[in-house]
Amino acid sequence: MFSRVLVANRGEIALRILSSLKNHDVETVILSSPIDENSLPVRYAHQVIKFKDSIPAKSYLNQELIIDRAKDMGIDAIHPGYGFLAENVEFRKRVEKSGIAFIGPTVNQMQVLGDKIQARKTAIETNTPLLPGTTSGLSVEELQQKAKEIGYPILIKAAAGGGGRGIRHVQSPEDFETQATIAQQEARMAFGDDRIYIEKYLNNARHVEVQLLGKGDGEVLHFGERDCSMQRKNQKLIEESPAPTISRKTASKIQQTAIDLATHLQYANAGTAEFMVANNKDFYFLEVNTRIQVEHPVSEYVTGEDLIWRQIQIAAGDDINLQQKDITFRGHAIEARIYAENPYNNFMPSPGIARRVVHPFGAGIRVDSYIETNTEIPSFYDSLVSKLIVHSTDRPAAVNKLYNALDSYKITGIQTTLPFIKQIIRHPDFQQMNYSTKYLDTHMDNFPFPEEYKEYARAIATIFHHFKGNQEQKITVQATNHWKRSLFPVPRWK
Ligand code: ADP
Ligand code: ADP
Ligand code: MG
Repeated sequence: MFSRVLVANRGEIALRILSSLKNHDVETVILSSPIDENSLPVRYAHQVIKFKDSIPAKSYLNQELIIDRAKDMGIDAIHPGYGFLAENVEFRKRVEKSGIAFIGPTVNQMQVLGDKIQARKTAIETNTPLLPGTTSGLSVEELQQKAKEIGYPILIKAAAGGGGRGIRHVQSPEDFETQATIAQQEARMAFGDDRIYIEKYLNNARHVEVQLLGKGDGEVLHFGERDCSMQRKNQKLIEESPAPTISRKTASKIQQTAIDLATHLQYANAGTAEFMVANNKDFYFLEVNTRIQVEHPVSEYVTGEDLIWRQIQIAAGDDINLQQKDITFRGHAIEARIYAENPYNNFMPSPGIARRVVHPFGAGIRVDSYIETNTEIPSFYDSLVSKLIVHSTDRPAAVNKLYNALDSYKITGIQTTLPFIKQIIRHPDFQQMNYSTKYLDTHMDNFPFPEEYKEYARAIATIFHHFKGNQEQKITVQATNHWKRSLFPVPRWK
């Protein structure tokens, strides 16, 4: 086993990785930008590599500095978490060259799967079902021709895309050229790579993905599937396991397809094969994420496994002594992502200081979060502040537990998506699994500004604006507008 590991990340995932390392008595080192210096993960690690600047390019993306300092400190391995450098092939190569182990797949696997065009080609080699689309770098004119053959609507995607970014929806041929140009520009800006491809748009689909762990010798294990269909702008908000709308037979087929693909590549370490599912039965490969994912805790809950520790063991060359038959599934787990964003003002980021933080607790309630009372939420990074994960016997029980946990969760000082997630959980469409990946993009009217906050907003407006009691209507409207413009903090009294 490694004796000293660097966690090259921040926030909740850094804390999560540190926890697994410390539980197994591995010495830990973490990165810290100035703004994160007093954060929980930085205090929790044994040693810190400090950056002078907080912007990502000069801190958590500063490959050279990270590797140089890691070498100086005698670090054996680097865990990249998700985001930042986790899928950066250049970084992966540099780590290898420095003689430090990388906790993740090989350079080749990251190259092949990180390029979504290349990944589609690989999927064809293993007879993985794919949506009609392209599998080579074509010009805009050629892509347009292909789109015509496939039939609209289609999606234009960035070969290097990720995190729901770089995807353009095209309804009809006349929009193609404009959208393709925008897609290329966006991809160049976001990923430094403007290659695009097209894929048939699947209506009314659900997102189902398989958690994989490759031993690197050709054997690949799966830890069940997750449904991540509750999304906003192609970004996941709520994830659960097992996938509730497909039969166990369909789930097994998807799992086996994922395993076949990963086995073909002799995949090493953690990865996730993502699929779109139509009619709760037909499934089509989307991509493989070559890293641990945000939503891994739901799979940990249903299997009782520590996936991060398994990643570390595999990277260290330990025999993990685990066969597929040893992985058993129990109950139902759901995760809700909580972002520092104002859900009633177009999800505008709400950085600032979380004044009062009270995490929920109880049997089968897990909070993966780095925030405490008075934690500063920087504007530089991802706005995810917490993940609330619950586990119970079945889906209805888990939904109920999640609702109650959300209800007792207090974060003040910044706006968060907590009230919005609560509205979703309470909605019959969620409870009856009556939604596709496009649901939130078309049903926001189901989730209006909550009544209980109107009351609060009104009380504040009354104090600030000395409104008279008989101007009820006006006060409510004004107060709601104030809230929407993030002028009010979250209620403190509850
Ligand atoms: P998950 O399935 O793990 O939730 P996401 O796609 O939501 O994965 O991405 C997790 C994190 O990684 C997010 O912070 C996202 O912004 C970031 N991310 C994912 N892919 C990329 C990429 N290609 N470039 C930059 N950041 C990315
Ligand atoms: P990313 O790399 O950004 O995660 P993905 O290809 O995994 O991109 O797709 C992200 C999300 O976009 C999916 O979960 C789904 O909601 C939507 N999506 C992607 N491809 C399709 C498609 N062909 N048809 C319908 N929706 C899609
Ligand atoms: Mg994806």
